[in-house]
Amino acid sequence: MVVRKGKDHVLPDHFSRIPNGEEATGVDDETPDAALFTIDTVPSWASDIVRVLTEGAFFLKQLSRAHTRVLLKKCGPFTMLRGNLYRRGNDDVLRRCVVDHDVIAVIEQAHCGSGSGHFNHESTARKILQFGLWWPTLFQDTYEYVRRCDECQRFKHPLKADFNTLIPVVA
Ligand SMILES: [Zn+2]
Repeated sequence: MVVRKGKDHVLPDHFSRIPNGEEATGVDDETPDAALFTIDTVPSWASDIVRVLTEGAFFLKQLSRAHTRVLLKKCGPFTMLRGNLYRRGNDDVLRRCVVDHDVIAVIEQAHCGSGSGHFNHESTARKILQFGLWWPTLFQDTYEYVRRCDECQRFKHPLKADFNTLIPVVA
């Protein structure tokens, strides 16, 4: 897949970074795992999860037993692949967790981008899931975005997608 970087290509950019399409370049294998993760790759809601997955016992021994138990349960569906956090959905599909500052651009691309057609929030959110992306407030954020979409407000109500072209998924 050949994509150009930029705001118009947020979904393909994310999509191309899933494990199969990703090249491990520019990362020194000797670098300790914890040092690889920056604000750019770790969503704010996932900082503890990433610490458990990358530091393991070293991080957990600083916590109480109760906190450890809760955190380990929370980590269940998550995994780190090449420095990025992924979550396995109920449909058994691994989806890349979108970092905070990319959330709006991802929704915008799915709702207003080429071939998107201003579909309603649910169709827009499912499109994002189909692209292999996820974050905890995906449906809520998409609802808020579509509700405020200027074009949807001015010209029409948001459309329901043609589900013949979409494969239903369960987050
Ligand atoms: Zn719209």
